[in-house]
Amino acid sequence: MSVSCDRVTTTASRDDDSGISPVPADHVPTDHVPMSHPCGRLLAVELDALADAIDRLAGASPQATADPESLLALERQLARLDAVVARAVAAFDASRAWAPDGARTAVSWLATRGRLARHDAKRQLRLGRAARHLPEFAQAWTSGDISGAHVDVVAPLLRDATHDALSRDEHMLAVQSRSLSHTAFVRATAYWAQLADPDGTEERAEERRARRDVQLSESFGGTWLGRLTLDPISGSIVAAELGRLEQVLFEADWADARQRLGREPRTDDLSRTGGQRRADALVEMATRSRTMPSDGRRPAPLFSVLVGYETLRGRVSELASGTVLAPGSLARWIDRADIERAVFAPGRRVEVSVRARLFTGATRRAIELRDRACTHPCCEQPAPSCEVDHVVPFASGGETTQENGRLLCGFHNRLRNDRPPPAAAAT
Ligand SMILES: [Zn+2]
Repeated sequence: MSVSCDRVTTTASRDDDSGISPVPADHVPTDHVPMSHPCGRLLAVELDALADAIDRLAGASPQATADPESLLALERQLARLDAVVARAVAAFDASRAWAPDGARTAVSWLATRGRLARHDAKRQLRLGRAARHLPEFAQAWTSGDISGAHVDVVAPLLRDATHDALSRDEHMLAVQSRSLSHTAFVRATAYWAQLADPDGTEERAEERRARRDVQLSESFGGTWLGRLTLDPISGSIVAAELGRLEQVLFEADWADARQRLGREPRTDDLSRTGGQRRADALVEMATRSRTMPSDGRRPAPLFSVLVGYETLRGRVSELASGTVLAPGSLARWIDRADIERAVFAPGRRVEVSVRARLFTGATRRAIELRDRACTHPCCEQPAPSCEVDHVVPFASGGETTQENGRLLCGFHNRLRNDRPPPAAAAT
């Protein structure tokens, strides 16, 4: 069985601050019944012990905890404490113990009495409330297997349309959250949401597209200030072209600096910053648009979409960057697209149709589609910024085939050539 994929290439507060409704009184688990203050004081001993432990850690030199194991252990305890605090904030909110001080909401109370940034207080309340409805995620978070960021991915799915499906699938998603990188978990969850609520997915994609907006206005003194909001496909079209022009300018700056200095330049030797180059690239885009001959062939915008038809690996509909798309949002582009077909065959092999490409081009493309990102275990650089590397080096007789190719970003490709990769990356 195989999954065929088409790559479309066109040259061309619901209630208050938290965004999650409070749990109705009859749904509040008994351990979340508002606690009176004396009950809370029983934990003062534990809080003192925690403060003592942190005092000792703070008293040690940073190097004492800078090794990999200590750092991961610290991150784990930080996540656990974050979970405990969020849970307490949600219970505090429900108890209305903030009201006697005259605060309007628990978030206002935390922002003033606790001097928290409002968005931090909102996040704690949002996640604390979500955790009540997501016992498996609450358990994984409290044990430090995942962080609050994972819960934040799932929390929006507690809406009516997906609530029941989420209750059914929470265990499966929680298992995924414990093993996938956060980026991969975001993607997996987006696909799950598409299946659980296809109509809602299309509606939200339409809403997102409806929010597209560009503001460019002349300010006092003649400087222009701007802001833009684009849906995923439009944004990827603009970003790809802006990035391409910026890269051209970067290479020019680099060549200039090398000639001027007579050595390999560093980034801070270049005459322009990244932001300045992007600004110049935008002006270049405007200039080229203006100077295009009226009878010139209008190039279609360029973006890649991976779309799955059969379901060996489940549904696929995403940009090359990994952003998951609502299938309907592709419709408006299809008639302007050049289609390149890729078939995901067994054995991690991808067959790509050739559209005016050399064989090496098709092989490269197949490897890009298969690996999607740098294959180094500590890296998530997407395919467009990666190089195809021979697993068995060419000089050692390695073939230029899919099976012997893999994506590595520039950094990891150089790292590989300079010295052996870390054990986990060794092949
Ligand atoms: Zn990399």
